[in-house]
Amino acid sequence: MGAEAPDRGDGSCPTTPGLARAQLALGASPGPSIATDLSACGLVVALEANFCRVALESPGPGGVDQLLCVRRTRLGKTGQQICVGDRVQVEGVDWISRRGAVAAVAPRSSLLARPAVANCNRVVVVMALVQPDLDPIQLTRFLLTAEATGVQVDLVLTKADLLAPQVLLEWRQRLAAWGYEPWLVSAQTGVGIEPLRQHLAAPGIAVLCGPSGVGKSSLLNALVPDLALRVGAVSGRLQRGRHTTRHVELFAIGAGGLLADTPGFNRPDLPPDPGALVGLFPEVRGRLGAGGCRFTNCLHQGDPGCVVGSDWPRYPHYLQCLQQVLAQEAAAQSRPAEPGLKQRGGRSEPRLDPRLRQLSRKRQRQGDGPQGEDSAADLGAEEAEDRHLDPGALGSGAGGSLNPAPGP
Ligand code: GDP
Ligand code: ZN
Repeated sequence: MGAEAPDRGDGSCPTTPGLARAQLALGASPGPSIATDLSACGLVVALEANFCRVALESPGPGGVDQLLCVRRTRLGKTGQQICVGDRVQVEGVDWISRRGAVAAVAPRSSLLARPAVANCNRVVVVMALVQPDLDPIQLTRFLLTAEATGVQVDLVLTKADLLAPQVLLEWRQRLAAWGYEPWLVSAQTGVGIEPLRQHLAAPGIAVLCGPSGVGKSSLLNALVPDLALRVGAVSGRLQRGRHTTRHVELFAIGAGGLLADTPGFNRPDLPPDPGALVGLFPEVRGRLGAGGCRFTNCLHQGDPGCVVGSDWPRYPHYLQCLQQVLAQEAAAQSRPAEPGLKQRGGRSEPRLDPRLRQLSRKRQRQGDGPQGEDSAADLGAEEAEDRHLDPGALGSGAGGSLNPAPGP
């Protein structure tokens, strides 16, 4: 997590003290000499290839409220990267073509690494109650990943229209014992949507995450009716929804709320620190208290006298996740110093990630098949997205992640 974003409260641009917002509010009197004010402040709402879309804090001349800005991957000598959610100062604005260049980025209050979203203050885990059936272990993995970001975590369970009230009540009770009060909603019938919209309309940036096919696109469409996002049919072959989200974008909800959708991934990486794992389970967080466990370096595996104990419903899930985190840690420690290189005839060559190799074989195999709903190329892209096979993700486990990034 980075430094707190200062709230100057004086209407000045966050990146440039003294640059008054009022200076930008020329929208009130648009005239022919509109290209005179060349700077503006706003929020990055989308990244598009080498450009970013900036929603302005105050409309510019002619009521212009968004600018397409040159996005330099790194801002000059500072090494500053631009992310969705960043508050930025734009210079060299051409109000007629609605273009500009990002000159500075304000300090961030938080930063998620994947998806890269700055200043997020809420992570919303979205899972379906049915179709596909809610899997407690998968739900736990998503919740742990969300809790590891350190921001507020909300849980939304979709497709509530498909279950009887008694079953919904049982889920509520079960999840209350996990320390969560879920929002049970249906995009189909609209049940629960309005209270959730009001909740998410509070000022700030909320990031939606969850597996594909759970109804995230349908939920976003219900929450932000102007959106008309493509809703994927549940795929016949994979028995889950097809990915419809391919990049991060912020959508306005209410007066101050912004929602970011993330590409669906089905198996998020577990947070890497075994010692910190138990603290990500809200139902037992309190047991540790200020002093922690009475045993030093305790991993809370049911030893007599351990303050965490084993008398809680998710204890078996905790043990299972702990084993995985420990195995992950052991694997990382036994990895050679330069895992990306292999020796061949005395030379070092880049090693192809085995998952990439599998993917390309799969692509080859399916290349001859019929181009149905899951065409070969689509399936490859879908799986790559599931596994977050971007170069930065290689060698970091097969799942997606929602990792907090190190501070700027
Ligand atoms: P995504 O992959 O998470 O974005 O999921 P989609 O929004 O594309 O939805 C996947 C499938 O679930 C589609 O067939 C939707 O029509 C269906 N679906 C989504 N929300 C609901 C809901 O609240 N109730 C029911 N019965 N079906 C839903
Ligand atoms: Zn303990």
